[in-house]
Amino acid sequence: MHELSIVMSIVDSAREQVAKHGAARVESIGLEIGTLAGIEPDALEFAWEAAIPDTVLSGAERHIHYVQARAKCAGCGHEFDIQQIFEPCPLCGEYFNDLLQGKELKIKTMTLVS
Ligand SMILES: [Zn+2]
Repeated sequence: MHELSIVMSIVDSAREQVAKHGAARVESIGLEIGTLAGIEPDALEFAWEAAIPDTVLSGAERHIHYVQARAKCAGCGHEFDIQQIFEPCPLCGEYFNDLLQGKELKIKTMTLVS
């Protein structure tokens, strides 16, 4: 389950920030996750429950912001929401498009407690 390794790397980043700022723990954390980042919300929840206790993120409030994937058609320039990576342009049917957003997986905000 790759969600677990993702949560572990979030814990690592949080631990680094806590150490860097001489804080005690994290009070709240905000994550930004693209709808095409390959993250299953349920699996993420499960991984979070499993990996977070006894870390600097224990008890931290968690906010997840999902970013709807959008693409720009290479044929006509139309921008549209996509649910999967190869989706034809709704205007011209072109399959080649540039992903504008939707693969994000990052820590957007972190509040520390000293
Ligand atoms: Zn198009």
